[in-house]
Amino acid sequence: MILTVASGKGGTGKTTVTVNLAAIAADKGIQVFDCDVEEPNSHIFLKPENITSREIGTMVPVVDKDRCSLCGECEKICQFSAIALIAGRIMTFPDMCHSCQGCVMVCPEDAIISGSRVLGTLKTGTTPGGVDLTWGELRIGEAMSPPLIKQVKKRIDPLKLSIVDAPPGTSCPAIETLRDSDLALLVSEPTPFGLNDLALTVEVLKKLNVPMGIVINRADTEDTQTGLLDEYAHREGIDIMQRFPFSREAAMICSRGEMLVDKMPEMKALFQELYGKIALKLDTIKNREDRP
Ligand code: SF4
Ligand code: SF4
Repeated sequence: MILTVASGKGGTGKTTVTVNLAAIAADKGIQVFDCDVEEPNSHIFLKPENITSREIGTMVPVVDKDRCSLCGECEKICQFSAIALIAGRIMTFPDMCHSCQGCVMVCPEDAIISGSRVLGTLKTGTTPGGVDLTWGELRIGEAMSPPLIKQVKKRIDPLKLSIVDAPPGTSCPAIETLRDSDLALLVSEPTPFGLNDLALTVEVLKKLNVPMGIVINRADTEDTQTGLLDEYAHREGIDIMQRFPFSREAAMICSRGEMLVDKMPEMKALFQELYGKIALKLDTIKNREDRP
């Protein structure tokens, strides 16, 4: 089963929820996947050991100028302006290429071969508590994160419980991460921005047919609008699965890269309760006949 922890906006506490849930479920043989490849930070908290690392690349076209007849077919098919006939020569723009191989297929002279550009790095390690962690680190300056996210997700073992830390937002990287999830846990905060971005993510999940639950973080701050979130969740028929209070101590612990479940017994109890609810929900989903 795949549990994906997501949020409409950054800074809601998504990674904090991911890593502390992982610590609670460590004895269940779980795996954690950090798909927030532009800014992965689960490893800072989980502190994996025996780290392996390998470069991940993607296909880009390389043109053999001696064979090219300058017919322009490759430029015509490319939807991303990544190959173009300019001033009598074919030029490629690897950073804009989406690796669809269209240009390779249409070239009548077989003048285009597949080269490679580095997208980033795939890393794995195991925490002292026995949690397998996989994360991606996108190369600085690289814009295309979905292929790297796919590589991170390729390591999901369907026989284990996987907890996936999604990138924030509702654009391609978040959708690539959320698809195929059995349950999405949406971490939100009780502010108008929080509600707005939560609603956007809920609409995406409805389209992807992924069941969901909500976690409210900093649920009792002074400018709290928890009522608005409650009202919204009730209207949409989505469970509010846990509420974490605002805590300066918790913020300090997280800023030091430490785990709340190790330092604050009251937080550990809330995470244990949340994990119990998630396990029940996943069981129900697993036994559903119409499971996608
Ligand atoms: S592989 Fe696809 S995206 Fe890349 S240059 Fe060729 S046609 Fe364009
Ligand atoms: S399709 Fe092939 S032959 Fe035609 S311009 Fe592109 S590289 Fe050259």
